[in-house]
Amino acid sequence: MTSSDIKSKARDLGFDVCGIAPAGDLPELPFLGDWLARGYAGEMAYLHRSADRRADVRHVLPSARTVIVTGTVYNTDAPYSTEDTEPGRAQISRYAWGDDYHDVLGRRLEALVAWMREASPDAFEARAYVDTGPVQERVYARHAGIGWIGKNTCVINPELGSWLFLGEIICSLPLEVDAPAFDQCGTCTLCLEACSTHAIVAPGVLDATRCISYLTIERRGPIPDEFAPAVGSRVYGCDVCQEVCPWNQTAPRSDDSAWQARPVWKNAELPVLWQMSDQELGDAMRGSAMRRAKVAGLRRNIAVASACGHASAEREHQRVGVGPHEK
Ligand code: SF4
Ligand code: SF4
Repeated sequence: MTSSDIKSKARDLGFDVCGIAPAGDLPELPFLGDWLARGYAGEMAYLHRSADRRADVRHVLPSARTVIVTGTVYNTDAPYSTEDTEPGRAQISRYAWGDDYHDVLGRRLEALVAWMREASPDAFEARAYVDTGPVQERVYARHAGIGWIGKNTCVINPELGSWLFLGEIICSLPLEVDAPAFDQCGTCTLCLEACSTHAIVAPGVLDATRCISYLTIERRGPIPDEFAPAVGSRVYGCDVCQEVCPWNQTAPRSDDSAWQARPVWKNAELPVLWQMSDQELGDAMRGSAMRRAKVAGLRRNIAVASACGHASAEREHQRVGVGPHEK
């Protein structure tokens, strides 16, 4: 079983790109410690708790020799939020429109590992993760040749753009590795200029506490008033720094049914979302990545987006401000 065989099988299973990185002392790995020390992770305590394991995949799997990284296009045929200026329209991050990528891609990665076990003459150890594992996946993606880490901190593939779900298999096999991707941002600074909260504090450095994705998904409690105008109609995440990226202007679209927008989120109007009961919102979020914000978080965001001034929404904003909970 060669690296080429694995990549071919990955394509058969629905991954758009696959590369292999060495499990070694990669130069970008130590940056995580600095980033955490600066407080840029905000309330994401799990990143601090898992920092030692995240420092190197060999802390997760001591026998690791390589990391197989997959990229899956989730871009679909729908306008970018920067093009959709309809008043009252709720903006939801593109990656969350369809089915939960953790589940969909987790199954595909498990299928790839199962195939490898049959195809490999040698026994091996492997751990598969999609996003939630203690792995600095963008670093390994770069060293697997999937794409470079842009100034907006996303992995950008020159053909596919940055609308990519990443997945990885940490593996004990000494597979042939790929050349790392090289930086093609050049002198461009469009993402830094487009970020309304100035969350990209330096090229490739994100202060998550200022990022709308963090504020609307990860943060519990109220969204600070200073950020409410910038959050605007963004009720779940923010795509602006990817939408303005030149590498995404002709990005391919996926016809995978898993990533197509659910009807409830398509052209969703803020007043309609606001009128939905918690039961209805919970049903709409079931099986999607949006579960992370929980119903209370989504309702807080809808309140911030549609209200500021609307009395009942303002009350709700205050009410959910004490912490995440369901009605
Ligand atoms: S996701 Fe939005 S808020 Fe966060 S860095 Fe990008 S443009 Fe800024
Ligand atoms: S917008 Fe420009 S600087 Fe930002 S990630 Fe894309 S190419 Fe790089």
